[in-house]
Amino acid sequence: MSTVVLDKVTKVYPGGFLAVDRVSLKAENGEFLVLLGPSGCGKSTLLRMIAGLEEVTDGDVWFDGKIANLLSPRERDVAMVFQNGALYPHRTVRGNLSFPLEIAKEDPGATRDRVANLSKALHIEETLDRRPGTLSGGQRQRVAMGRAIVRQPKLFLMDEPLSNLDAGMRTELRMEISQLVRSLGVTTIYVTHDQVEALTLADRIAILNRGVLQDVGTPAQIYNDPATAFTAAFLNSQQLNLVSAVVHTPQNNYVLLDMGPHHLILPWSDPRAYATSQYVGKPILLGMRPDGLAPVPESYDGPSVLGRVRALEYHGHEWLAYVECGIPAVPVPEPPDPRAKANGHAAGTGGLRGMVQRMFRSPVDEQ
Ligand code: ATP
Repeated sequence: MSTVVLDKVTKVYPGGFLAVDRVSLKAENGEFLVLLGPSGCGKSTLLRMIAGLEEVTDGDVWFDGKIANLLSPRERDVAMVFQNGALYPHRTVRGNLSFPLEIAKEDPGATRDRVANLSKALHIEETLDRRPGTLSGGQRQRVAMGRAIVRQPKLFLMDEPLSNLDAGMRTELRMEISQLVRSLGVTTIYVTHDQVEALTLADRIAILNRGVLQDVGTPAQIYNDPATAFTAAFLNSQQLNLVSAVVHTPQNNYVLLDMGPHHLILPWSDPRAYATSQYVGKPILLGMRPDGLAPVPESYDGPSVLGRVRALEYHGHEWLAYVECGIPAVPVPEPPDPRAKANGHAAGTGGLRGMVQRMFRSPVDEQ
């Protein structure tokens, strides 16, 4: 069991490149913490510093209340699984799984039992006598995972262990990782650039961009209440609508969001009015998910803006309409009659309801 604390951890690579910038973060005992971010944001560098494979330039890494900056990977008692789980090619799967226990001079009987139980849990019993070269990608990753787990370390560190697998195998193994790791209760820090993986696996997600921590929280917290526009945009597979606006509260009667060619009026009874009113006179950035918007008839008298459908896109499970409303085209769910709208018959006849879903704390900086 292990608690990991990062205190302003920084990495500057030789040549001066700042890969990780004062990241402070805690992985609680038994927690599944996911580090999420785009390629090059510093996730692997951070994980390698936790593992002791990369020196920390500044700041501290703490394990269970003790400073660990100078401990070797072995002294930290961590197990790592990488993208292409390197295995010993000349050893069988059984040999690969038992190797960490042999090194630790475990009892051979106990080792046999442990390998048998683990191979069952990972569904690789059939492959125990085969060599890695004869395994599929999914089986190889299972063995790599098993080899990391077999010794029951204090901490698992996983760096994109599923990214080389096809979609079906990724989903299957994702569920197994979750079950296995949770049943062992070992603190796990898992790196990925895949939002779905992060949302489905994590107890908490930490989002990085350009080496800087953007947001930390449970999947529901950061999905529903992202701290920055970057987080909101990154977590959404559908394009997020980001629209600049200035907030006014004319004579304190209502909140007016001035978006240039349009404005929206929110009565004080609207729960979104209070949040926006805190930014009176200031430019803000409104974040709106397509699924939070809805097409409404012209007769609708709630907060809405008029628009013209510019294009429709088929996304398999739904259509998205790109609606021109004087601000950048906003994708919204399918209007009631998509073909008619796409032909332009809808000019000025529809509106968009629910325009204000989320406002970001530092909108100007985010732009
Ligand atoms: P990916 O998902 O593509 O692996 P990542 O978020 O894990 O990306 P890192 O591998 O941590 O990112 O790299 C962060 C930044 O540091 C990148 O710009 C990378 O080019 C740079 N970097 C990584 N290793 C070194 C190195 N040894 N020397 C110089 N720069 C490096």
